[in-house]
Amino acid sequence: MNIETRNYVAGEWVDGKNHVENTNPSDLSDIIGRHAQADNAQLNSAIEAARSAQKKWWDAGIQKRHDVLMAIGTALMAQSADIGALLSREEGKPLAEGKGEVYRAGQFFTYFAAESLRQIGDFAQSVRPEIDIDVRREPVGVIGIVSPWNFPVATPAWKIAPALAFGNAVVWKPANLTPASSTAMARIISEQDIPKGLFSMLCGAGSEIGQALVDHSGIDAISFTGSVPVGRGIAASAMSRMAKVQLEMGSKNPMIIMDDADIDLAVAHSANAAFGGSGQKCTAASRLIVHEKVHDEFVSKLSAAAENLKVGHALEEGTQIGPVVSAAQLQGNLDYVAKGKAAGAELICGGGTLDRPTKGHYMAPTVFANTTNDMVINREEMFAPITCVMKAGNYEDALAIANDSEFGLTAGIMTKSLARAKHFQSNMRAGTLMVNLPTAGTDYHVPFGGRGASSFGPREQGQYAAEFYTIVKTAYVHGGGAI
Ligand code: NAP
Ligand code: MG
Repeated sequence: MNIETRNYVAGEWVDGKNHVENTNPSDLSDIIGRHAQADNAQLNSAIEAARSAQKKWWDAGIQKRHDVLMAIGTALMAQSADIGALLSREEGKPLAEGKGEVYRAGQFFTYFAAESLRQIGDFAQSVRPEIDIDVRREPVGVIGIVSPWNFPVATPAWKIAPALAFGNAVVWKPANLTPASSTAMARIISEQDIPKGLFSMLCGAGSEIGQALVDHSGIDAISFTGSVPVGRGIAASAMSRMAKVQLEMGSKNPMIIMDDADIDLAVAHSANAAFGGSGQKCTAASRLIVHEKVHDEFVSKLSAAAENLKVGHALEEGTQIGPVVSAAQLQGNLDYVAKGKAAGAELICGGGTLDRPTKGHYMAPTVFANTTNDMVINREEMFAPITCVMKAGNYEDALAIANDSEFGLTAGIMTKSLARAKHFQSNMRAGTLMVNLPTAGTDYHVPFGGRGASSFGPREQGQYAAEFYTIVKTAYVHGGGAI
C-alpha cells in the first residue's frame, strides 16, 4: 500500500507545491506514501470559502449539525480498524491503541452531535420592568486548528467536533509526521453533506503553512496542541489581532507513591503512564515521587516491569511499546539520557536503543533513580519512554516536589488514605488529577486541560468546550409600547 495524500481545500482534493515522504517508524524500509504540502494560495482559498460556508452551516440549524456529526462519529467507529492500523503504521503506537484512538475520535463526534442539540442559552429578567434578557451562544466564525502527531486523529477530533457542533467552520493543519490517518478522517468529513468549504485540511510544515494559518486575519480563533515554544508564538500572534486562542502544551506530570499504597498497583500504573505510547503523551508520568519506606521495593519492581515490556513493531501481535516516532525524537531522548547521567542520576534500566528484526526507532523503557527535582530530566518535558524516580520523606515533601514545576497538566497519587487523597485533590496545582490511577487516560465527556505552562485559554472537551467555540450575546428585549 502506497498512499498519496492530497489536501482538502474549499471542498476539493488538491495536490501540493511539493511532497514529503511518510515513513513507518517501526520499519524504515516501509515508505507509507507521499503527501502533498499545501501552499499559501490554497490557505487563502480555504479561509475565504470557510467564511461563507460558516454562515450557511449556522443557518442549517441544530438538527442538521447533529446529523452530520453523528454520521462522522459513526463512520470513524466503523472504520476504526483500518484507520487505526494506518495510524499505528505511521505513528508507531501498538495496533490496539491505534484502533482505540480512532474509535475514541468517533466518540468525540457522537458526544458533540448531542451537544449541538442542547439548549445552551439563559434567560433573565431585567432589573428594569417589562424588559427580558436572553443570553445566547453564537459561533466564533472560522477556527484554525493545529494538532500534533502523537494523537493524530483523536486530538483534532476533540477540536473539530465542538467547532462544527457550535456552528463554526474549520481550517485544520495536521502534523506533518502523521498525514495518512489525519487524511482518512478528513475524507470522512468531506463525504458529508456540508457547505462547500466548511471544513478544509492543509498539510505542510508547521513553520510554513502552520505559521501562515495562525497569522491569517481570516482566522477568528486558534486551537493548538503541541509544544510550549510553538504555543507561545501562536499566543503572541493571536493577541496581536485579538483572535481567541486555546493552547494545550507540554507537561512534567508527577505521580506520588505513598507508603500505604498497593505497591504492585502503583508499579503497574506508573509503568503504564510512563511508557505507554513510548512516553509520547502530554499526560505521561515522568516524575515518580516515592515515599522512602517503599522506595527501594518500588524501584526494583518498576525496573523489572520496564524490562518485561515487549518493545517491537507497532503492528506485531503482542507489542506493548512501539518505536518512538522519528529519528529526531530518538536522538533527543538519548541526549536526555546523557544529561541525566551527567547530572548524577542513576540509570536503573534502559537508556539505549533496541535492535529488532526491522530497522526502526526502538528505545528501551528507561528508569532513572536518585534524581532530584532540579535536574534537567525533571524540569523539561522529554516526551520519551524515560521516567525519573525521586525519594520523599513524607507526604508534605512529596506534594511540594510535585508542585515544583512550571507545568501542571495531570498529577496522580497512589494512597489508601482518604485524608491524603482529599488533601492532594485540594492542594495539587494541576488541571487533571488521578487518585489510584495512571496520570494518562482520560474520558471524552468531561473537561481536559492544565495549569501553568501546560495550558492557556478555556478548557477543551465536554460542555466546557462551548466556552472556546462560542461567543456570548446578551439581548435586551422590550415589547415596544402598548399592545
Ligand atoms: P510541535 O512542534 O509544537 O507541533 C505541534 C503542531 O504545531 C504540528 O502540527 C506542527 O507542525 C505545528 N507547528 C510547528 N511550528 C509551528 C508554527 N511556528 N506555527 C504553527 N504551527 C506550528 O509539537 P510536537 O513536537 O509535534 O508534539 C509534541 C508536543 O505536543 C509535546 O510538547 C506534547 O506535550 C505536546 N502535546 C500536548 C498535548 C496536550 O493536550 N496538552 C497533547 C499532545 C501533545 P509540524 O507538522 O511541522 O510538526
Ligand atoms: Mg514538531
